[in-house]
Amino acid sequence: MPRKKMNVRNAHQQKKPMEKKSAKAVDRLLGMKDIVPSEYRYFSAIRNKAASLAELYSFNAIKTPVIENSDLYRKSMRHNNDKELYSVDCEKGENSILRPELTQGILRAYIENNFVELPQPVRLYSIGPVFRREKLQSGRYRESTQFNLEVIGEDKPMAEALLIAAAYNFLLDLQANFQIQINSIGKADCRKDYSTKLNSFYKERGRRSKLCNNCKKDLGKNMMALLDCKEEGCQQVLSEAPQIADFLSEESREHFAKVLEYLDELNIPYNFNPYLVRGLSYYNDTVFEIWPVNEDGAANNKQALAGGGRYDNLVESLGGRPTPSVGIAFGLERVVAKVKEKFELPDFKQEVVFLAQLGDQAKIKSLILFEELRRAGYNVRQSFSTDSLKNQMEEAARLRSKVSLILGKKEVMDETIMLRDMESGVQETVAFKKIKDRLEKKVNRKEGVIYG
Ligand code: AMP
Repeated sequence: MPRKKMNVRNAHQQKKPMEKKSAKAVDRLLGMKDIVPSEYRYFSAIRNKAASLAELYSFNAIKTPVIENSDLYRKSMRHNNDKELYSVDCEKGENSILRPELTQGILRAYIENNFVELPQPVRLYSIGPVFRREKLQSGRYRESTQFNLEVIGEDKPMAEALLIAAAYNFLLDLQANFQIQINSIGKADCRKDYSTKLNSFYKERGRRSKLCNNCKKDLGKNMMALLDCKEEGCQQVLSEAPQIADFLSEESREHFAKVLEYLDELNIPYNFNPYLVRGLSYYNDTVFEIWPVNEDGAANNKQALAGGGRYDNLVESLGGRPTPSVGIAFGLERVVAKVKEKFELPDFKQEVVFLAQLGDQAKIKSLILFEELRRAGYNVRQSFSTDSLKNQMEEAARLRSKVSLILGKKEVMDETIMLRDMESGVQETVAFKKIKDRLEKKVNRKEGVIYG
């Protein structure tokens, strides 16, 4: 019987067609960005830096889902534009979207987990991706990473001051060149009168013809949005427009003056920008943005590193109790781009200096000292949100601090500070000016390390 002719081609030969024609490469989607290893180094260090600074300022980490119910965002006005939201196919009847910002998810979690029962304010921070189907522009991605700090349940102007201090020190440590823009947009009533005034201003002397198409559409309907437009023609008209400062109520005026006073006391530079409004959003009273400053010294209003403000009505509008709050969001891709050239790896394992305070003046003074010591390379910790000295000392012990520095009313008046050796319990009074010399002999520090 003739043997059947065997097919001797091996597997490799059989797959020959692969060699002839390679598959078409699939590109990443428009507006998306890869963070490749060489850039990830920066990204990851800055992310760690953000988290450790947030913890130092007494914020607790929270992670909320990337997918949320779209009502959460539609209700809160800021992202009410469906075209900007990525909807997700989930269960039938669920209106799921990819979150366009972190704040609303954090507030939903605050309400749902009954954080209102905790001592207020509740300070939360979160780092994670957000998704917006935006118009494509350089430096604007459809997936970006935000770092948010939220102070929930605090109506005092000190909340804004401490929040801006944390944001300022985060960027200062990264040696970024930046400028803080700040304004007050008052309450809804103030904005109503202001919008009427703006409307008549824009209708005067052919100003309308200089506006971009979007602003022409908003005219008469959404006057605050006109102030947020970055188009050159619109900015030109804006430079002569009436300012909201003239429409603020006594209460809003006093609140804002206090915020600025605290920033002055904390030596935090800012630019009062009478036209900063942060779009049509949920904010009231204080609003702020942080703009990168270019080599030539010009602030770039199109690539803000961060933005935030007071949102006293948002928790209530999402179904919670009235809860005055304030928050800020950084775009980490933009922060990375700004600081990339000056990066050093963090290395921070040291003895702890605990800073305790008693009374308002001592709090302000110790916040300034806190920054000085941290920048000098000390691993300095505090509990500014706690007024009781006993609780602060317990925290110092829990952190196994090497020394505690205690600043009370008497010390503020005498320009001294109490230094307590936490191992021996021995206390000594040190002249305030001499504190760094004294610490040098007691606690180790990392010189020249700015990240950690
Ligand atoms: P917003 O809540 O829109 O003010 O965003 C807060 C910060 O996130 C901004 O100041 C930017 O740094 C950053 N950010 C917002 N949108 C984008 C985007 N499309 N691409 C990159 N970064 C963004």
